[in-house]
Amino acid sequence: MFVTSSSEKNQGLVTCDASRPARIKGDVHILVVEDEQKMANALREGLEADDYSVRVAYTGEEGFYLVQAESFDLVILDVMLPGRDGFEILRTLRRRGIRTPVLLLTSRDAVEDRVRGLDTGADDYLVKPFAFPELLARIRALLRRGTHETSRCLRLADLEMDVLQRSVMRKGQPVELTPREFELLEYLFANQGRVVSREMLARDVWKETARQTPLDNVIDAQMVRLRRKLDSQFDRKLLHTVRGVGFVLREEDQPR
Ligand code: CA
Repeated sequence: MFVTSSSEKNQGLVTCDASRPARIKGDVHILVVEDEQKMANALREGLEADDYSVRVAYTGEEGFYLVQAESFDLVILDVMLPGRDGFEILRTLRRRGIRTPVLLLTSRDAVEDRVRGLDTGADDYLVKPFAFPELLARIRALLRRGTHETSRCLRLADLEMDVLQRSVMRKGQPVELTPREFELLEYLFANQGRVVSREMLARDVWKETARQTPLDNVIDAQMVRLRRKLDSQFDRKLLHTVRGVGFVLREEDQPR
């Protein structure tokens, strides 16, 4: 048994392919990824008025993290985002096996954009400006079509994490993590191959905006414990410290 919170400890053995009960009707979670405040607010208000539960991410990075970390029924993804644009985020999500339905919003009514969006793995698209009832109709269509995910596996070498089942395995053996360790690992997975700094961890995992020395010590201590659980019994190390910079989850030992 390898669940992470004590309340779940008495469930049967779960694997990455285990099924989970369907969601209660009316409890539909939509993630909106849109950098324009006005547009994002309008989407949130309109969708909430239609009884959807809405989260908004104002950057591609934040959206990318949330869609991996939480369970959404649908993502409304704006193509035009600063940094990693909608296409790039969509491509990465699909490459990682995340099948959450995605509705692309584009302000360019170019055929190439639509084709590119659908080729990248979008389930539908809508050109801005659009009529809200049309957006709602498309959402309903996608939700009818979509199947709810029951597990979402993240893998690196022989390390496997199921974000929805809250389970972690290394070489087929369960690894028991505390909720905080689980969150940390999830964040490292979301940034797989990239170095995450203590500032990023403080902000995104601990939700601390003012960086303080004591928190750095807490982060380091948590990392030591997480590494002990993940790596200590294995030759192949996956969680690395990059001196003076932060931490990275990846197979190779060499900083890039
Ligand atoms: Ca935008």
